Amino acid sequence: MDYDVIVVGAGAAGLMAAGRAAQMGRNVLLIEKMEKPGRKIRISGKGRCNLTNTRSHEEFLEKVRTGREFFGPAFRNLDNHQTVRFFRKQGLQLEVERGERVFPRSGKAWDVANTLAGWCKDLGVKLEVRTSAEEIVLLGGKIYGVTIRNRGGFQRRIECSNVILCTGGASYPATGSTGDGYTIAHALGHKIVDIRPALVPLEGAPAIVQQLNGLQLKNVGLRLEIDGEIAAEEFGEMDFGSRGLEGAVILRVSRDAVDALIDGRQVRLLLDLKPALDRETLLERMGRERAALPEVARFGELVRKLAPKQLVEPLAVAAGVRSDMRMHRVEEAAFGKLADALKCFALTVSDYRPFEEAVVTAGGVSTDEVDPQTMQSRIVPGLYFAGELLDVDADTGGYNMQIAFSTGYLAGELRK
Ligand SMILES: Cc1cc2nc3c(=O)[nH]c(=O)nc-3n(C[C@H](O)[C@H](O)[C@H](O)COP(=O)(O)OP(=O)(O)OC[C@H]3O[C@@H](n4cnc5c(N)ncnc54)[C@H](O)[C@@H]3O)c2cc1C
Repeated sequence: MDYDVIVVGAGAAGLMAAGRAAQMGRNVLLIEKMEKPGRKIRISGKGRCNLTNTRSHEEFLEKVRTGREFFGPAFRNLDNHQTVRFFRKQGLQLEVERGERVFPRSGKAWDVANTLAGWCKDLGVKLEVRTSAEEIVLLGGKIYGVTIRNRGGFQRRIECSNVILCTGGASYPATGSTGDGYTIAHALGHKIVDIRPALVPLEGAPAIVQQLNGLQLKNVGLRLEIDGEIAAEEFGEMDFGSRGLEGAVILRVSRDAVDALIDGRQVRLLLDLKPALDRETLLERMGRERAALPEVARFGELVRKLAPKQLVEPLAVAAGVRSDMRMHRVEEAAFGKLADALKCFALTVSDYRPFEEAVVTAGGVSTDEVDPQTMQSRIVPGLYFAGELLDVDADTGGYNMQIAFSTGYLAGELRK
């Protein structure tokens, strides 16, 4: 055998797996199809890489949306606190920010990727870049090797007794995560749970989204409504971009919204633009604003006192009043309707954006056929999985990166 183990994909999971395997005395080859390891790490967290989250185990696991139980043993083997210690030991200074999110103190995601790559190098991992794994070759039902192809088109087979597949998901394919692992795992008999974008911008009715393009809302309450029932509630930032509805609260509800849209259900977002005020208090505030305005003031001027400029027209429409109508002509009931619209501004969600814009891929290699204590395939001995390729995903906040680190670290131990 040329190697004890070939790790396919040098992302967060693959780097962790390769380093851990080498640390345990294995002869390791790490194959990466891009020019550099850790392309996705380098752009993660808006270039700052939110590499984990220091919440308690219980709170952390609550953020894991699929595969929570499956992830438990890997997380206990390398948890969030051990991960922080691991990076600090490698000389990377870290900082904990709002929401217990951990970032490199330098503010550079590159430092995270370079730390992992340097750790692998020091441990003797052989890295081959610009090389794609095409197939895992079996002999008598056991791993025999991996067929690889370099950028020049030259194909060869490398022998090994174990493979750790860490090819990532299908999101942001420009980083190299083009979903190859699904095909490779499927060819070996593994079930692939339908993949779909998660943590992804949503699309609303074009007219309103266009009207609000560029609007950034801070401290809004957002409820996700599916077929008339509230499915989730969030609080935070939301942006109206050219690509649709974005921002932290949208990403957090997007997973459920995408699944509902795929099922053909009705999806709406109900925005609370004044989450700190109940309806009564809001009406009192409105009364004070009205009293302070001159008699000739128009309805739109009142709305402007309560909401950003771009929302004046849509809110006036929701209140059933023209924004240029003089205040003294506005019927009393319209102020109640305006309060309702401020507390519950409804947006219909028509679609979701593609994998190219999704932070994470939901679905993937079914965890039913992978041993959570080892990450080893229950179908092919010697085959291991780690990272986003698996049907495990979490909310934003450093959880997905930790999933990659923990599953990679455990897979790298090559436990039988
Ligand atoms: C824009 C963006 C920002 C994000 N920010 C954060 C964040 O701040 N915090 C967080 O927790 N998560 C974040 N995520 C999610 C997180 O980056 C991923 O969940 C994590 O990187 C997954 O790691 P992975 O190793 O499983 O896959 P990847 O990082 O995708 O790595 C897979 C690697 O395999 C290689 N590969 C694929 N196929 C082959 C093949 N056939 N042969 C050889 N190599 C192959 C790819 O080139 C790639 O390098 C972000 C994601 C995106 C897209």
